Amino acid sequence: MTARIIDGAAIAAALREKVARAARQLADHGLVPGLAVVLTGDNPASAVYVRNKAAQTQAAGMRSFIHRLPAMAAAADLLALIAVLNADPDVHGILVQLPLPPQIDAHAVIAAVDPAKDVDGFHPINAGRLATGLPGLVPCTPLGCVILAKTVLPSLAGVTAVVVGRSNIVGKPLAQLLLAENATVTIAHSKTRDLPGVCRTADLLCAAVGRAEMVRGDWIKPGATVIDVGINRVAADGGKHRLVGDVAFAEAAAVAGAITPVPGGVGPMTIACLLANTVRAAAAAAGLPAPEL
Ligand code: NAP
Repeated sequence: MTARIIDGAAIAAALREKVARAARQLADHGLVPGLAVVLTGDNPASAVYVRNKAAQTQAAGMRSFIHRLPAMAAAADLLALIAVLNADPDVHGILVQLPLPPQIDAHAVIAAVDPAKDVDGFHPINAGRLATGLPGLVPCTPLGCVILAKTVLPSLAGVTAVVVGRSNIVGKPLAQLLLAENATVTIAHSKTRDLPGVCRTADLLCAAVGRAEMVRGDWIKPGATVIDVGINRVAADGGKHRLVGDVAFAEAAAVAGAITPVPGGVGPMTIACLLANTVRAAAAAAGLPAPEL
């Protein structure tokens, strides 16, 4: 079998187009959604992500505000900036780029963001809303994973899903979203016994581990749908680097029914879902109905 490739880049472009349409509709109400991104320190990968977010925010017809703090910034500086952004009516979404420098407690920073502007969906109130089935802002990468999975499996009801990874930003919220879609969900992690055997039970296998090509072809149930969240830089010929996922793509594609590539799978969906969350937050702040996305 050769798996169908789930084209995350194309699916993300279609979502960004819907977001741009929703932003134009909000503009008819005199409302321009605004996304503030806070970058602390000079992590080169974070700087690239922040530039991409700003460019795509503007391309969707929304306002982008970038705030930069030095690597040695005190937690109080970042918390003071968040208080200003929480109070700014032109800012509908706030994203604090992670990771933060070691002197700053990320939990305290995440908790300081107004939950109504928490477009990353990391605030404990939004995590609790997701866990208890209440509407709220949902983390972008897991949301993107579910959208991609549903292009292959339009109904996830009764589907046996395995999520490998239990981080607060990917694994746990992804498992909650799949549960909300009525999938039968197993969360696996570094202490899971017989991980290959657990993965082989999955009709839908989601890997969010951060270990290059850990999931092998013989871990995959024939015909399964595989969503690869991992982004890992590995050495390539000529002293260069290339990006690979958490799944050994060529082996997996020979067994799976459908699979996301890396790059070009989950990655582009994350920013598209961030823009979608910003438009949702802006509409909610203005008391307007949730945009159709
Ligand atoms: P993380 O916080 O490091 O969590 C990794 C998870 O994988 C943990 O729950 C860990 O288990 C589990 N794990 C580690 N080694 C394992 C092993 N040998 N067997 C089974 N489970 C293992 O990572 P994350 O932030 O969730 O990110 C995961 C991957 O997704 C990374 O490659 C990251 O770059 C990528 N990512 C991509 C996007 C995107 O936009 N595409 C967004 C976010 C993250 P324990 O809990 O037991 O330690």
